[in-house]
Amino acid sequence: MALEVTGKLLTNTWYCILRRSFTSTAFKNEKYTNTSNNDMPIEMENPFVKEKAQCILCKLNIKPDYKNTKLLSQFVSPFTGRIYGRYITGLCKRKQEAVVKEIIKAQNAGFMPYYNKDPIYLEDPKLFSPDRPVRPHDF
Ligand SMILES: [Zn+2]
Repeated sequence: MALEVTGKLLTNTWYCILRRSFTSTAFKNEKYTNTSNNDMPIEMENPFVKEKAQCILCKLNIKPDYKNTKLLSQFVSPFTGRIYGRYITGLCKRKQEAVVKEIIKAQNAGFMPYYNKDPIYLEDPKLFSPDRPVRPHDF
């Protein structure tokens, strides 16, 4: 099959390509091609609406747990052992209270330390290997 357009012959494949491009889904979408009143504004949601502010734990839907010490230790100072306040962590009030409660629970359970080593002692030589606490002896 061949169509004559402005004196030139279009082969069947070119006709199919042209027809497919003009009848694609973008042209069929009623949202963008409103034939009855083309000059009217398009109905769309407000692009300037601000995203709802959420803390990181609410956004990722994380519930603080006393067994998850890797998460909880991020809210504790590594130098002083102090639990950071809300102005540092940026958590909402409910999650901050839950984090503090779980940190204290983890400390009572022995999963987290109460006190941290003073940073000036961090460079001290090891007296024994933590992997093999018994020192080698003759007998
Ligand atoms: Zn929150």
